[in-house]
Amino acid sequence: MSDMQETEALADGVKRKPAGGTPDHKPPIAEIGLGTSVQYVKGVGPKRFKLLERCGILTLEDLLYYSPLRYEDRCDVTPICRLNVDENAVVRGTIIATQWKGPRYGSKSRIEAFVRDETEQITAVWFNASEHLYKRLIRGHRIILYGKVGCYRWLQMVNPTFTTAETDEGLDKFRAIVPIYPLTEGLRQGELCRIIIPAAQTYANLVEEVVPASVRQANNLLPVQEALKTVHAPPTIEAGDTARRRLIYDEFFVFQTAMAVRKRITGLASGISFRIGPNVDKRIRARFPFTPTAAQERAVREIADDMRSDHPMSRLLQGDVGCGKTLVAAYAMLAALAERAKGRQVAVMAPTEILAEQHFLFLRRLLESAQVRLMLLTGSQSASERKQNLDAILNGDVDLIVGTHALIQEDVEFKNLGLIVIDEQHRFGVAQRHNLGRKGPAPDVLLLTATPIPRTLALTLYGEVDVSIIDEMPPGRAPVRTLLFDSSEEDRAWEAIRQQVAQGHQAFVVYPVIDESDKLDIKGATSEAERLQSGPLASARVCLLHGRMKQEQKDAVMEQFRKRNYDVMVATTVIEVGIDVPNATVMVINHAERLGLAQLHQLRGRVGRAQFPSYCILLAESAGPDAAARLRTLTKTNDGFKIAEEDLRLRGPGEFLGTRQSGLPEFLIGNIVDDREIMETARRDAFALVASDPRLALPEHSVLRRRVLDRYGKRLDIVSIA
Ligand code: ADP
Ligand code: MG
Repeated sequence: MSDMQETEALADGVKRKPAGGTPDHKPPIAEIGLGTSVQYVKGVGPKRFKLLERCGILTLEDLLYYSPLRYEDRCDVTPICRLNVDENAVVRGTIIATQWKGPRYGSKSRIEAFVRDETEQITAVWFNASEHLYKRLIRGHRIILYGKVGCYRWLQMVNPTFTTAETDEGLDKFRAIVPIYPLTEGLRQGELCRIIIPAAQTYANLVEEVVPASVRQANNLLPVQEALKTVHAPPTIEAGDTARRRLIYDEFFVFQTAMAVRKRITGLASGISFRIGPNVDKRIRARFPFTPTAAQERAVREIADDMRSDHPMSRLLQGDVGCGKTLVAAYAMLAALAERAKGRQVAVMAPTEILAEQHFLFLRRLLESAQVRLMLLTGSQSASERKQNLDAILNGDVDLIVGTHALIQEDVEFKNLGLIVIDEQHRFGVAQRHNLGRKGPAPDVLLLTATPIPRTLALTLYGEVDVSIIDEMPPGRAPVRTLLFDSSEEDRAWEAIRQQVAQGHQAFVVYPVIDESDKLDIKGATSEAERLQSGPLASARVCLLHGRMKQEQKDAVMEQFRKRNYDVMVATTVIEVGIDVPNATVMVINHAERLGLAQLHQLRGRVGRAQFPSYCILLAESAGPDAAARLRTLTKTNDGFKIAEEDLRLRGPGEFLGTRQSGLPEFLIGNIVDDREIMETARRDAFALVASDPRLALPEHSVLRRRVLDRYGKRLDIVSIA
């Protein structure tokens, strides 16, 4: 197939602008390298350069790796009579008439072609199209249309992609498999195809192989150059998908190699070898308020083993909300402080002040009459108080310091930091975690997360970390019953609360915002607290908690609630994580349709923390069918892992983790949800490779080594692999 035909086949019906603006001096091909700006690639002028930039394509390399989302098979023709509205389809027929309506009364210009096959007729419509396009639509010629089927008086396709030829044989010569790329506004499929496809054929040979031959053979992977050519212009959809998977493997393999290297380096660093013998173990357990579950025991064992070793621990403790991670973390803390003579310190970081306070209280109770000196570092302390506290930490006058992440991280210097415990780790980024690790000589790090992170995501986010899982709840827990009501039925929720309060229990009522918003039509915690107290919950004692309150106020309310001086806490989602009030048995969540599944599950975890039967009532504001289906997942399962997987699938990793700065690496092609098996294979291979060649020193690993350092050297602090 000639180039001419190929570009024509990919035409998307838009007249190409004359090549105005293309730089006059294209460097000769010999000088073009992968790092060359994409503006020197044929077909890219200043305007397209801007558009490509917006797609993240800056260099030739970016362009080559800009992989199609999927392919469309233009041979997969549907007879017009069997088309379904709203579905994408390929139609092959004859042009029986055309018309061109110029712009009128402010409306767009419109070109129409009436196309018929043996079964039916369809209208193809192009808005704002050019004369050039119109000229290609010749009555009696054969045409292939590709687009979404619509219906406006008649079956129609709006702005379909198309190919025309005088005869069927002519049509058959065109490319059948067309790549579909992610686009940005102003950039069209056809334009992008015309740039990428020829560039891939010309420049793919510049790309070096990062995956060593042995690994390639074992996985039956195509050579990368072939994969790059094929991914943009595959002979079949299968070939395209295979090539795409091959490139994803590349990307994941480099990432996992970086993880393996980092893990090796942290493993090499010398850490503290804590002495945790039978006596220490016994002393710690004597303080425990209950017998640990088998799963807690297992986690304790894994952590104690790590702590005894002279390498720094880097372990993630995962477990569904309410499974009892705090107790396990407390074991680690007490173990770290057991050798008093060593003067070691422990830092505990929580995502919110409320939670920091709660941990502090729990630890104080646990350590009653022990010699351990505790400190709570909060944001509401005065400057002089803070100064005093920081001095105490630096001088080693305190042993166990609890605070929020920000507080502990900012400017705190420890005298002798032995262990860092980070609660709700998933809320912090990877980079932040590494920062803290630099305080003191390689302390052990224990991360806790209550949002069960689906395995693949865990492998990606915490690729260099060991994982312990608590997969069992403490005994005697009745599962939380979850009910979904329309907000018009809110009285049922208030009735449930009244009943539970009458039995001596407590309740949470959650609102997504502090102040109501008329614009968004959302109820707010503040005014609702008043309404409930003076109306449906008049018989109960209602308190209010939200993020804008002063810390002392928050602490006071929390304490009063814990002491049962209040029955109902109306709150924002500040109570999402960690809050532990076992006497609470009902949670009502308003505007549930606005919250993610994982977050709802977290909230729900505030109840059902004891043997009492508990309820979670989701009130949704006339949720559409999608939202309702989503919420129904919660009524069906209490399994945090299942919910997290579903949430991740629905919202994608960025949203799921709640922040763009979650530390999640951005992959160009691969998607850690859809391509999870590739991630696992790449991980296995990369770790095996690093085990056999820890410094990536073998000549066959030199390209890989360079790529790993280029991409992850700084970020993961592995600048010196040796
Ligand atoms: P999370 O894993 O969500 O942080 P917590 O550590 O707050 O869970 O524990 C949840 C509740 O379970 C707390 O009230 C805690 O006291 C209780 N708990 C933890 N471990 C046990 C156990 N082994 N037996 C009984 N209750 C336990
Ligand atoms: Mg917790």
